[in-house]
Amino acid sequence: MASSVPVSPLRLPSSFNFATDVVEYWAQKDPSHVALYWTDQSLSTTKQLTYSHFARQSRRIASLWATLGIKQGDTAIIISPRIPEWWEIGLACLRAGVVMCPCTTLLVDKDIEYRLQVSHATTFIGDATSVAKCLRVSSKCPNLRTIIQLDGVADTGAGVIDFHAALHKIPSDAPFRVPASLGPQSPGMIFFTSGTTGPPKMVLHTQTSYPLAHALTGMHWLDLAPGKIYWNLSEQGWAKAAWAWLSTWNCGASLFVHDDRLPFHPRRTMQVLNKFPITTLCAPPTVYRQLVLEENRRYFATAEGKPRALTHCCGAGEPLNESVVRTWKEMTGGIEIFDAYGQTETIVVCANQKVNKVKPGSMGKPVPGVPLVVVDADGNVTDPGVEGDIAIEISGSGSHHFFGFFEGYIDKSTGKIDNKIKTLANGKKFFLTGDRASRDQDGYFWFVGRADDVINSAGYRIGPFEVESTLKLHPSVVESAVVGSPDATRDEVVKAFVVLTDNAAARIAGDAEAAAELTRELQEFCKRNAAPYKYPRKIEFVEAAFLPKTISGKIKRAELKMLERRRYQEENAR
Ligand code: ATP
Ligand code: MG
Repeated sequence: MASSVPVSPLRLPSSFNFATDVVEYWAQKDPSHVALYWTDQSLSTTKQLTYSHFARQSRRIASLWATLGIKQGDTAIIISPRIPEWWEIGLACLRAGVVMCPCTTLLVDKDIEYRLQVSHATTFIGDATSVAKCLRVSSKCPNLRTIIQLDGVADTGAGVIDFHAALHKIPSDAPFRVPASLGPQSPGMIFFTSGTTGPPKMVLHTQTSYPLAHALTGMHWLDLAPGKIYWNLSEQGWAKAAWAWLSTWNCGASLFVHDDRLPFHPRRTMQVLNKFPITTLCAPPTVYRQLVLEENRRYFATAEGKPRALTHCCGAGEPLNESVVRTWKEMTGGIEIFDAYGQTETIVVCANQKVNKVKPGSMGKPVPGVPLVVVDADGNVTDPGVEGDIAIEISGSGSHHFFGFFEGYIDKSTGKIDNKIKTLANGKKFFLTGDRASRDQDGYFWFVGRADDVINSAGYRIGPFEVESTLKLHPSVVESAVVGSPDATRDEVVKAFVVLTDNAAARIAGDAEAAAELTRELQEFCKRNAAPYKYPRKIEFVEAAFLPKTISGKIKRAELKMLERRRYQEENAR
């Protein structure tokens, strides 16, 4: 299948530049074609920026880079709220071959120091707040040469460059020639992973592994095309922001951006959907879990809570519970949530897609063109229903291979790049994702858990996701985290940390008997609604804040597992 632009994402092209081959393509077709709708925090100021605008502005910024000595192959960390400059600068970097490394505004000084050091970034671009953080650590970052501030008054005395003042000196129609040595496999972008299982890993993408291959994400999962307006809730520092940007523009659709700087609030999300003609939404499962709560469901049914133009909803990043998909469909009058699976390391490789029916609780089928499989330890594809490793098979040579995944992790001390591709016993090569799933008769993938999170109990292997999803069906449960807890006879038992609704929490507060009764009720509920051997033998009721989460909101099960180990050792030492 051809992508919306005349470059196919299924064959590695001999030359490709996202700025010239994608953005200028749409700009030339229609100079008034909107690439980005932007609104500020209060929803009062709005902007419509065209593909032509981004084409022109990115040439101008790339020229500025040249005058500042920022060149092809340099790494530039960018940290800013969702302001249009982020996309202008991102496009200028791809045009010039400057490796853009977006990070989240939530980072503190030491996180910025770590990222500047391990990425060897020469350039830091940020809003006033992030620049202040950067200045506090810059003396410990020997590669850093240039600091650019996007807003406010830059401290030029400290050597900070005021972006807008510097750009003002470059003619608005400045030409810029893409460097001849910038090829489809040249370094393109760096992202840090979410850090769910350990310190965030530095992932290097090429000029095509994200910028072109995400055309597949846009076509098959997000169902984007000219005329569609896509709102992705995640923050700019996560790979998902690049998923949104690159897939939307490859498909000639328009991005919608709300420069939201406040903590997530369901009402505001609904107000935005009501006020603007957004057709397509992507939110993480944790957001959908909030949106389907009773009080929000009621609001959704009112005139000011109803989405204006929404037709397609998507989720990714964490397992999406079946019950949430069903409730969302009910409350929206039939809109399903298309769950999809991918990593910072990959584009969306598995997705519920418009051409297939959505199976709630499943992450859908491999995206066309992606050699995604479930394999056993020897590299053989498992039978339907049999759990195995989710893997991308590396086959083909020359331009005929799937290229929508990373170049490798950059080793922070040596700078070497490791693509983690392994040859298994059957002689085939794979990129092993570290996640486990099974595939059903129809080819749908069902997520089991991260390989390290799968619980081994008396010879049974139990995926935490299924138990968490079962618990979520119970009206007293808001959220849970399920891990293996050490056990002398069973090796591990299933332990659930459960966050209760306010009502349920009030019912058991200070009443041990009521808590024990609710524990039994939840256990019986799990036995009835999932295979009985999977029920949580141990349940602990906790406050929402007790669950350790990454800054992007993912549950760090590994920490809870370690907590259980520590408790077990302490008990046995007594
Ligand atoms: P780290 O690699 O630093 O531990 P991380 O794996 O959470 O962090 P990301 O690249 O942001 O970093 O997340 C990718 C992971 O998120 C996947 O490997 C998978 O475990 C999980 N994931 C993504 N999408 C889904 C989905 N639809 N269903 C279940 N899990 C998902
Ligand atoms: Mg990971």
